[in-house]
Amino acid sequence: MPPEESPEAKFDRLKKQLQDSILRDYPNPERKGCPDDAVLKELAERPLDQAVEDDPHWHHVTHCSECYREFLTFNNAFRREVKAKRARAGWTLAAGLVVVALGLIFAVRQGWFSSQRPQNAELAYVKQTVDIPSMTRSAEAGGDSKPPIVIPRKPVDLTLQLPIASPVGPYEFQLLREKQPVVSASGTAVLQNGTTSFSVRVDLSNLAPGMYEMSVRKVGWDWGYYPVEVRAD
Ligand SMILES: [Zn+2]
Repeated sequence: MPPEESPEAKFDRLKKQLQDSILRDYPNPERKGCPDDAVLKELAERPLDQAVEDDPHWHHVTHCSECYREFLTFNNAFRREVKAKRARAGWTLAAGLVVVALGLIFAVRQGWFSSQRPQNAELAYVKQTVDIPSMTRSAEAGGDSKPPIVIPRKPVDLTLQLPIASPVGPYEFQLLREKQPVVSASGTAVLQNGTTSFSVRVDLSNLAPGMYEMSVRKVGWDWGYYPVEVRAD
């Protein structure tokens, strides 16, 4: 006997010894007093917590090599079936989880969980270029009747062309109503063909149509303000 036998191994070894001795020590080739298969099968499939010691059939089975062999066969088949059922149940559960996960992915993509409309690449952004003539507040020049910049009430891909000689770098963009920003975005201005410009993607389709103030600044600098009309189709 190995010196470091685990309790499980010891149990299995003793069980095997006991089983072998029953299979060997109680030959009953004439099958005297043997119960029929249904009884053996029932014993073999009995839950482990159900006592069998007082069962007269169990006493016979443990004292009849032939019946015990059949009992072991039934018992092995039964345990294999239970194992297979558990495996099937596991697969069913796993498949169910996959279905749930796919449903969630679909729902998230459809934006079912977001209260806002999705602001992502699937929206069709309308390209628009806005020319900013000066970074000073034009309205303060007095009587300046320049028409407001018109931006459609849609998802827009705005290119903001900054006044000549504007520095490149990080810029901020806002639309304000009653001095409160309702849309904010930022971008990096680059110099191209002599013009400094940056682009922002903003979804204006939830805004009420009407007059707004657009504010633009280089990060860290002062804001410039410009009247803007958000116009519905
Ligand atoms: Zn028997």
